[in-house]
Amino acid sequence: MVKYREKYILEGLDEIPPDMMADLDLAYDICMHLHVTSKCEMCGKCCHQPNITIMDDETERIAKRLNIGTDEFIRNFLYRKDERWLFKKSGRCRFLGKDNRCTIWKERPQICHDFPYLVSKFMSRVYLSIVNDIDIDLSYMEDDWPCTTIIKSSIDDLILKAREERGKRITRSL
Ligand code: SF4
Ligand code: SF4
Repeated sequence: MVKYREKYILEGLDEIPPDMMADLDLAYDICMHLHVTSKCEMCGKCCHQPNITIMDDETERIAKRLNIGTDEFIRNFLYRKDERWLFKKSGRCRFLGKDNRCTIWKERPQICHDFPYLVSKFMSRVYLSIVNDIDIDLSYMEDDWPCTTIIKSSIDDLILKAREERGKRITRSL
């Protein structure tokens, strides 16, 4: 297993071949472009999703924000699955306020900060779309999320440009 940019886990690989690295860079640039240019409307709609992952080093920080000990936080709010911590929740996140704002915004988990543009689900689908010349699969995103609209309005053009760059790179290497 290897990680791209210390973050995205590539199962079944011991190293990233140079061509694959260049393609991952193309996908990453698209994700980062959207992350930097697109404002999250903080509508809280994605906070109803399952599988909010908490990294080991985030437990203490969030526990402190809640004025409880780390052990108590883990016991009451998290469960362990596939060597990861996840929020115990069914439906709405327990930290989503009545006004649909996150009540631990400054201390929210990294995945909440990264969603939707920098999470591995999106990154991998951008990558697959570029290299396999297929439409991007955004079926996990709901149509009424503001960020879905942003992605859908620009992703085809961004991927097309990335494919053109990729094609030029491949031609140069022949
Ligand atoms: S659904 Fe999209 S716009 Fe709304 S809070 Fe989540 S990431 Fe932000
Ligand atoms: S921690 Fe905050 S941002 Fe993350 S899912 Fe819960 S309410 Fe949403």
